[in-house]
Amino acid sequence: MNLLRVALDVPLALLFDYALPETLQATLGDRVVVPFGTRQRLGIVAGAASESEIPAHKLRPIASVRDDAPRLSPEWLELMRFLAGYYQRPLGETMIASLPPRLRSVKPLPRRSPRDAGAAGDGSSPARFVPSHVPTAAQARAIERIGATLGAFHAFLLHGVTGSGKTEVYLHLIARAIDRARQALALVPEIGLTPQLEARFRHAFPGARLAVLHSGLNDAARTSAWLAAARGEADIVLGTRLAVLAPLPRLGLLVVDEEHDSSYKQQEGLRYSARDAAVYRAKLAGCPVVLGTATPSLETWHNCLAGRYERLELPERASPGSRLPDVRVVDLRREPAEQGFAPSLVAAIGKRLALGEQSLVFINRRGYAPVLACHACGWAAGCERCTAHLVLHKADPRLRCHHCGAAAPIPRACPTCGNADLSAMGRGTQRVEEALAARFPKARLVRIDRDSARRRAELPRTLEAIRRGEADILVGTQLLAKGHDFPGLTLVGVLNADAALLSTDYRAPERLFAVLEQVAGRAGRRDRPGEVMVQTRYPGHPLFAALAGHDYAGFAASQLAERRAAGFPPFVHEAALRAEAKKLDSAMRFLREAARLVAVPAEVRVYDPVPHIVTRRAGLERAQLLVQSPSRAALQDFLAAWSARLFQTAPRTLHWHLDVDPIEFD
Ligand SMILES: [Zn+2]
Ligand SMILES: [Zn+2]
Repeated sequence: MNLLRVALDVPLALLFDYALPETLQATLGDRVVVPFGTRQRLGIVAGAASESEIPAHKLRPIASVRDDAPRLSPEWLELMRFLAGYYQRPLGETMIASLPPRLRSVKPLPRRSPRDAGAAGDGSSPARFVPSHVPTAAQARAIERIGATLGAFHAFLLHGVTGSGKTEVYLHLIARAIDRARQALALVPEIGLTPQLEARFRHAFPGARLAVLHSGLNDAARTSAWLAAARGEADIVLGTRLAVLAPLPRLGLLVVDEEHDSSYKQQEGLRYSARDAAVYRAKLAGCPVVLGTATPSLETWHNCLAGRYERLELPERASPGSRLPDVRVVDLRREPAEQGFAPSLVAAIGKRLALGEQSLVFINRRGYAPVLACHACGWAAGCERCTAHLVLHKADPRLRCHHCGAAAPIPRACPTCGNADLSAMGRGTQRVEEALAARFPKARLVRIDRDSARRRAELPRTLEAIRRGEADILVGTQLLAKGHDFPGLTLVGVLNADAALLSTDYRAPERLFAVLEQVAGRAGRRDRPGEVMVQTRYPGHPLFAALAGHDYAGFAASQLAERRAAGFPPFVHEAALRAEAKKLDSAMRFLREAARLVAVPAEVRVYDPVPHIVTRRAGLERAQLLVQSPSRAALQDFLAAWSARLFQTAPRTLHWHLDVDPIEFD
């Protein structure tokens, strides 16, 4: 009798033994239906065995083998094993959750209709490539260099300033991959960016079979695109992070556009980084991976400096005559803001209005924790145990370090200058719209953010109206920074940049630089030069000098030096254990006890637990503790042992998860 090991979507890290009846044929990578308890479940054959710990008479048989989708390849199984192991999730859960919902069901797919091509494009004619223009010298160099590595693993950073034509480089490389009868996978950070890129791909490759994969598709469309990828029918697969999990039997090129974007990290279930998974996939497939961005993540930059990734530069904007905007800081200590605006920024907006040009007021507002700061001298409360800033917890009331868990009383006055009027940074941007409307009563104001679903639904129309010039002043948050092109926009004013400089999250300056460079990239893309004005109380911060010089390398060098000195990633590796419970005490107790569950090796450091600043969410209190090690291998070994114990011992009344390489601290 044949024994197979089946992965099932249950919260256990093991595989389950089943007997394969002689009437059925199944092998590694097959989807099978098996009895589990009193019901049937869909599983994936992940191994074979010669004998089982389960006595033969108790061993249950596989009920059926599914042939409605291609068998999953050994390479795909290996990817799943890697992700489950690295991110500490059960293998079965990882595998099954990676399938489109219809293929997770025990019910077979409806029979394939002849029209079910999956990938659009008739595929009857070989894919032609229509480049949009002759590549610039820098583009041509990048195309030649990356093109020369097709057929072997190689990781590239394509570092190109905004408007430098990274997409054109991707298109040329995809054309070469298709020529070699290979599939290309292109990842974008946002669903909203897929239609734009899809149109560009379709235009460049008339007749190519293109499949689009993201979470916004209905089940039928997602299944059909996934099948087109998995059957090897699609030449190009374009999608958001989940597309990196699709099987691609002819994979020959991976592209990760805007690789620095935090939406590549999944924030629930398998908390994977699609960018890191893409690099691993390229290794498995033996093909190049291209990480493209104007503002690389410091991890990627560090990998280039260490020689693991090769860096290619596109230093100029692609369209002739177009140049990068001028960036200058507005010193709020000399020019105090009224209702949030420095007088010189108000004057600059007024000038644009008179010229009939557009201005964008960009509000840096992410979930930054409130840091206690002195507005008179710039002092900010810092942790004595590590170098992070302390966060004001009003409920306690105390200052707490969100990195190491240290706590301190709230000082009555600034320890540097004696000012008694200390307040938390990161406030005071609520009334920006009203303030602008009061100053410029005749201007047409448009606000763009993701605060309401209604606004989100209207977004494409709003953006089009802005492009047609039907707005004078745009007020927006992070959403506006991504990939939109407004030809009439010549001024960008940035409010509240300081919250990021004082943030407890060591990644905040990196994100601020990225978002400001992106926002700046919106200004003056055509013949009119753009201008960016950043309001700050810290005009001497190296971030602003780097921004003014569009000097990413300089900025990265200063940030990496700080991170090395402070012992933050990429010089150490991290994981966070988070807990949610009805009472904060239970979450904190769970974390404290978890820290003692297994022996901690010398190379690994487990910090004290910290309550979240906005603790209550959906009626639950949240807390987390951080684990750190300079050795990735030591951290991985510890996490494997730790999570096995956690899965065994954690109370069922409490939600917990491990986040490996976490990127959000709040
Ligand atoms: Zn002070
Ligand atoms: Zn600390």
